[in-house]
Parts: sequence; C-alpha cells; structure tokens
Amino acid sequence: MPIPPTVVSLGLAGGQGKSTVALMLGRYLGRLGIPVLFVDCDPQSSLTSFLGVQVQPDTPTLLEVLTQPEEKTKILDAIASVPDVKLGDRTINNTNLFLIPSDDGLESANYKLASSGLSLFILRNRLQPIVSNFGVAIVDPPPERSHLAQTSLGAGDRWVIPAESNVKGVQSLLRTMELIKEFKTALPYGELLGVVPFRARWTGRHPTNATKTSIDTIRQLVGSELMLPHILESDVFKNAINQRVAPTDLGQPNLEYAIHVLAQRLKPALPEEY
Ligand code: ATP
Repeated sequence: MPIPPTVVSLGLAGGQGKSTVALMLGRYLGRLGIPVLFVDCDPQSSLTSFLGVQVQPDTPTLLEVLTQPEEKTKILDAIASVPDVKLGDRTINNTNLFLIPSDDGLESANYKLASSGLSLFILRNRLQPIVSNFGVAIVDPPPERSHLAQTSLGAGDRWVIPAESNVKGVQSLLRTMELIKEFKTALPYGELLGVVPFRARWTGRHPTNATKTSIDTIRQLVGSELMLPHILESDVFKNAINQRVAPTDLGQPNLEYAIHVLAQRLKPALPEEY
C-alpha cells in the first residue's frame, strides 16, 4: 500500500504564509474526514499555538523526536490531539487533527542536526514508520536556511510554496526555489505542488498594482501550471486563526478557494480510502 504523503509548506522569509497554508490545508482535509498529522518544525511554534496545543513539561516535543534515539523517545508519545473549539453555540470538532508540537527550545536541534551530517533525512526517517496511521502529514518549517529547514524539506514528498504578493514574497520564492534546486537530486521523491500568492490585495474588482506585478512575476518564474489561486489579504483569515477555526467556520468558504485547489492537487497522493 502506498504511504500517505508528507506536505511541506516552504518559504525562506518570515510572514510568507507557511503556517497559514499548513494550518488551513490540514483543517480542510480534517473536515473531509482525513486524519492529519501536523509537524511544527519552527522554533517560533506558530502552528502549535494556532492549533491551541499546550506543550506539557513531561511530554516529548519535536526536539526530542529529532535529537534522541528512537529507543528513548517514541515518536507516537510526542503526538498531541488538537482540542475542539467552541465557536458561539457550536463546537468545531478537531478529532481528525494531531500535532507533534514544538516550542522555542527546538532551536537547539539545529546543532544536533548539523553534527549528524544527515539533516536532510532525519525527520523523514522518524515520520515514515508512523505516517500510515494518518491520511497525510503536514510540516511547517522555519523561515531561514537552517538545518531544521533542511530536515523539513527532506521530510516532504509534496512541497507547496506560499509567497507574499509583494517584492519580499518574490525574493522569498527565488531563495526557496534555489534551496529546492540545491537538494533536488538527493530528494528524487519530492514534487512541487504549486505556489500560492499570499495576502493578495484587491480594491473593488481589481488587484492593486503591487499585487498584480508580483503575481505576474511569480507566474513568469514558476510557469502557469504551478500557479495556485491567491489567498486574499483579509481580516477574516486573521480572525479565524485567532479563534482557532477556518474561514469556512466563519461562513466564508470562498476565502479558502486556494486551499481547496491545493487539496485537489494533493488528492491523487492521498490513500485510496480518501
Ligand atoms: P513565520 O515564518 O514568520 O512564522 P509564516 O510564513 O508562517 O511566518 P504566517 O504565520 O502564516 O506566515 O502568516 C503571517 C501573518 O499573516 C500571521 O500573523 C497571520 O495571522 C496573518 N495572515 C494569515 N492569513 C492572512 C490573510 N489572508 N490576510 C491577512 N493576514 C493574514
């Protein structure tokens, strides 16, 4: 039986939408009944807090998973359930969502990964034996070229690159594509699903000039086939993240169109039952 895919949301700059895309893709797939394992590989631990998971002092996190031998830290012991959320008089059910959490202590994993000489494959090797318990794994890496970024890249067989719809986003995309190019021959199983222009600004029926120019540049860089729909700049997204739900739960499924299309691209890689 083919093993479930591991998606990595990549981007070599802060604020590009990595955590948002990882989070919303996982929530979207979870709503479809697909068990999702999130992996928070960023010491800023945005994903852990966006999912409302509290790291417990006596429970292993991704740090122990990456730095301790398997006999000492069982990866299954590091997996937390994502709590359900109360939204008015409704309960948003998160029974399909799971997370290997992190906190800022994860930063120290960089030294251990560097000295191992095997950064690229350590996370993949730890995830492979357990990913079949889920329908998909989704990794959120840090925004800089660290060993944690390398181990995230190597863990993925499907990559998605969110890039802000501005000059900084285009630069981040270029750096991210360079990173992929550098390691591609060592990662023959890796495939780029597409690029999501993030925080696109629209006034009325038209994009702003800066948004239009950057989206056109992104299209020229990656080609039309790899272009995914943009995510609009919107307070609804921010509110949804703060309330630990998705725009769909706030009555705005249209704002998740990019996530819907991304999920469709991922579909052939999902286990048959989904
Ligand atoms: P970092 O690497 O620094 O953690 P990131 O690439 O993971 O950043 P996110 O955390 O996903 O980026 O997003 C950056 C910020 O944008 C977050 O504060 C989030 O609340 C906000 N945000 C998410 N979606 C939208 C949106 N559609 N419109 C406006 N702001 C948004």
